[in-house]
Amino acid sequence: MTARGLEPPLALLAELTHRCPLQCPYCSNPLALERPGRELDTAAWQRVLDEAAALGVLQVHFSGGEPTARRDLDVLIAHAAKRGLYSNLITSGVLIDRARAEAMAVACLDHVQISIQGYAPEAADRVAGYRGAQEKKRAAAAHVRAAGLPLTINAVMHRHNLGELEAVITLAVELGAGRLEVAHVQYYGWGLENRAALMPTRAQLERATEIVAGARERLKGVLTIDYVVPDYYARRPKACMGGWGRRFLNISPSGHVLPCHAAETIPDMHFESVADRPLAEIWRDSAAFQRFRGTEWMPEPCRSCDRREIDWGGCRCQALALAGDAAATDPACALSPHHAALAAAAERESAAPAPDFVYRRMTVPAV
Ligand code: SF4
Ligand code: SF4
Repeated sequence: MTARGLEPPLALLAELTHRCPLQCPYCSNPLALERPGRELDTAAWQRVLDEAAALGVLQVHFSGGEPTARRDLDVLIAHAAKRGLYSNLITSGVLIDRARAEAMAVACLDHVQISIQGYAPEAADRVAGYRGAQEKKRAAAAHVRAAGLPLTINAVMHRHNLGELEAVITLAVELGAGRLEVAHVQYYGWGLENRAALMPTRAQLERATEIVAGARERLKGVLTIDYVVPDYYARRPKACMGGWGRRFLNISPSGHVLPCHAAETIPDMHFESVADRPLAEIWRDSAAFQRFRGTEWMPEPCRSCDRREIDWGGCRCQALALAGDAAATDPACALSPHHAALAAAAERESAAPAPDFVYRRMTVPAV
């Protein structure tokens, strides 16, 4: 893709903070979490929103960590609205009471996504590493709906909670969600660290796929269900982020501009900061965004594959983590020489007793 043919990014994921009261063992944040003292301040985020809107971004997803841990969240939501950006809050919900939900609605938030860890409170709280989380999430969902905000529930599924999938779908309807994301764990960062503890069996995955198909039919017009399957049992990879540097950008709490939230796991890449350069220039010209943009960087078998502009060769971070080379074909692809080992690892780990969780904490675990 040439700079001339480059379209503006569709969406910006604004990781306002890595602080979070929960400790999910599949958290998509990097293992090396950013300290609160390094977070961009309110004025810097406002400038980022100005620059994003000028660049052509349409949506901003306020995320983290837990974005409601930021006291200035309402100010940032209002600023996004002023710039004409559609705003979505991605939250665990545990810090949202009635006043907070109402304040966010007044600030013109467009949509809320609350994550849940399962159905049964005790088991869900164990995954979250936070007692009482499930109860608080139920209350937050009620406050969000009472404030008139549309709600999506995001349920991350794995070997410990797939048996609850039917109940999770029913819960999403009870909570007043219009959409449910049934998302199998993606094995990057903390998820990769906990892969053996979380990997479902192929039978569990197949049963989940049947349940989702049945629920989609049964709940037409009531609940839309998105379904994200685990790469390890797939034959072809997902178009990670719609292709590197094509449709999305991610800004870390300290202001680094990334093509995806896990990109900083790739060594020897320099990700520029909004503190040093305008966002539009970083999007268009930075070496990190250029590196895997388009198809010219691709090795075989991607280079001559007719899916190269469909999945864009899959995920660079997964290629690095599993094949040792960020420029390799994603091992989730059955055409990758590393795919057989990946599939074998999934079968082996899912059949073995689950090890304890390594909870997401500010300190990096020993590996
Ligand atoms: S996945 Fe869990 S630990 Fe990570 S930010 Fe979300 S709620 Fe917090
Ligand atoms: S070979 Fe590359 S482009 Fe083709 S399906 Fe696999 S990952 Fe996608």
